[in-house]
Amino acid sequence: MQHLNLEVLIPRDQIGAKVAEMGKMISRDYAGEQILLVIVLRGAALFAADLCREIEGDVVLDFIAVSSYGSSTSTSGVVRFLKDLDESIEGRHVLIVEDIVDTGLTLNYLLDNLRSRNPKSIRTCTLLDKPSRRRVEIRPDYSGFTIEDLFVVGYGLDYDQSYRNLPDICVHKEAKH
Ligand code: 5GP
Repeated sequence: MQHLNLEVLIPRDQIGAKVAEMGKMISRDYAGEQILLVIVLRGAALFAADLCREIEGDVVLDFIAVSSYGSSTSTSGVVRFLKDLDESIEGRHVLIVEDIVDTGLTLNYLLDNLRSRNPKSIRTCTLLDKPSRRRVEIRPDYSGFTIEDLFVVGYGLDYDQSYRNLPDICVHKEAKH
């Protein structure tokens, strides 16, 4: 399959090195504590699979799936839960794992929602960050790469559900937000 519209932005070896670095930082910060990773489907699944294996210590995985409420999302930031967590997060150390933070509306909504369930602590982790597109003030606690306002695919990120299996993060030159 040819990918004429794709250009590698972050090659796989750089992703691997960054994920290992993030895992070390998280292991250090949570030393001796159990971490409940809340993985946001579907995009963060591949990142989380690699990240959790770079974390030393007790890690529990749970998954959440959300979708935007059409165009109203851009103003309200309300998202719909397609799949809620299986675990109770009350009294636990929660780390939300995202693929990319763009406007910040999704992560902001998730943080508000999960905070109301009384976790012991809650932090956020993203592989990619596009701060130039932010609409709410939110800064992830752990962030891999800061990128320009580009539409990227690969390593879990899709365009119309395709390209998630690409091992590198690529710019999709035709795709629009
Ligand atoms: P936000 O609510 O921060 O605007 O959007 C976050 C979600 O938008 C991400 O979890 C991801 O699904 C999608 N998204 C934002 N930017 C990109 C991008 O460059 N590529 C892909 N594939 N998805 C993106």
